Amino acid sequence: MILIPEEDKTQGVAMNIVNENEFPKDMHPAVVLEDRCDGCAFCVDICPRACLKIVPNPHRPSHRMVRVIAKLCSGCGACQGTCPKEAIYIPGLSTADLRAYIKKALIMAEQAGLDQ
Ligand code: SF4
Ligand code: SF4
Repeated sequence: MILIPEEDKTQGVAMNIVNENEFPKDMHPAVVLEDRCDGCAFCVDICPRACLKIVPNPHRPSHRMVRVIAKLCSGCGACQGTCPKEAIYIPGLSTADLRAYIKKALIMAEQAGLDQ
């Protein structure tokens, strides 16, 4: 599990850097596993495209979930890296690949002095 703390802006910035420079550009939009998502909104806060929205969960009365506005989603993977429930993912993006991108992003952020 890769968990980016909600308050850790450095890692969010790092993901944006790596997305601009390294990440595949043809990724599919994010997919939500509705039975796992609890609507915590961690992913909403970190999404660089503002394409995640918290809505009522139609399958679980009185629960919330996130919905992806697919036409806005770049498939950057930041939501997948953030979700503590493994409830959102990019088709074709494995956890191992995502971990490698985040590791690279953190190195780039450190080199750019974003951790200060
Ligand atoms: S993949 Fe990126 S752009 Fe798409 S919903 Fe997740 S964080 Fe937002
Ligand atoms: S996808 Fe994950 S991070 Fe986003 S609202 Fe659902 S449980 Fe929270």
